[in-house]
Amino acid sequence: MTKHLFFGLTLQALQDLLESLQIKKFVASQLTQWVYEKNVTDLNLMSNLSKDLRAKLSDIFNFETLRLETKEVSKDEQTVKYLWRFEDGLAFESVLILAPDRQTVCVSSQIGCPARCAFCASGKKGLFRHLTAHEIVEQVWRIHRDLQQQSGQSVTNIVFMGMGEPLENYEAVTTAIRILTDPSLMGLSKRRLTLSTVGIEDKIYRLADEGFGIGLAFSLHAPNQKLREKIIPYARKYPLDDLLKALRYYSQTTKKDITFEYTLIRDWNDQPEHALELAELLSSWQCTVNLIPYNPVEGLMLKIPSTKNIETFRRILTQAGIHHTCRYTKGRDIAAACGQLALKNTEQLNLQ
Ligand code: SAH
Repeated sequence: MTKHLFFGLTLQALQDLLESLQIKKFVASQLTQWVYEKNVTDLNLMSNLSKDLRAKLSDIFNFETLRLETKEVSKDEQTVKYLWRFEDGLAFESVLILAPDRQTVCVSSQIGCPARCAFCASGKKGLFRHLTAHEIVEQVWRIHRDLQQQSGQSVTNIVFMGMGEPLENYEAVTTAIRILTDPSLMGLSKRRLTLSTVGIEDKIYRLADEGFGIGLAFSLHAPNQKLREKIIPYARKYPLDDLLKALRYYSQTTKKDITFEYTLIRDWNDQPEHALELAELLSSWQCTVNLIPYNPVEGLMLKIPSTKNIETFRRILTQAGIHHTCRYTKGRDIAAACGQLALKNTEQLNLQ
């Protein structure tokens, strides 16, 4: 029998599975308490389950499947990057970002990325494969356990801003969101989850209708369709006008403001005229613009914006009343900043 991957099971799925195997329903809550409350996956340690039952359960479930290859801590100790590798050589990364008031995990949803944005390392070679719901949740759980052991702290926030385009792996990502936010499972607050997308029109409508009420960040990066197409190949398939309508629907349905992400790249999209056009585009929106100065990616010819250009850009937005933040992403020294998560060491594998 192929084993079931525990972290990919919603509570309902776990209960149904146990029922189908004639195992008492309350075993589901015993298991979820051990795993999600006590951070224990070793069945031998689950002392309130009988020996026979533990033997049976070990034939049914696989718990930890990710092999941690490296864990790097940035000099300021605020960023930790985890590299997970599979038997076939494929690897992906997750990042823990520490702040005084929160512990955020930046999760990956795919190995590689189909979007291939001009400035991003993750999509340089396209998509290798989707991560499963189990693998998405396991990243968070493993980092949570590590944090608990190190400092007694918990993971409080999740951002789907690691490798991959989450809306291109819709089923796995939404199942993971259910598991991460179920109070009897990972138990994170919905308000503390944010999904970032390059913009896939039909999936934005669908996500709105799921009723999760999680935050949505949209990777805009340009104030008009023409320039956006140059930076984001996906933009050709999903015109900005249509995406803005979908985002409006998301915002109205969930009663949540959209975050517009804008990676500033020298000369490409960091000029005053871009700021003016952006302010005009977003004049009717109650939103936040998140400016992210480009983080250098090996092999790309793009340049980081000058401080002067960033300041001018911000001043124009301020004058137009556009609320914005500028995120100098952490963890550059360990290549854990936005867009720097890569297919580490897969080069020699020659996978296509
Ligand atoms: N595919 C999703 C999520 C992954 S990227 C999306 O496109 O939104 C998460 C954020 O990191 C995006 O806003 C992206 O623009 C930003 N980013 C990617 N590469 C970057 C780089 N080299 N420098 C700065 N920001 C980058």
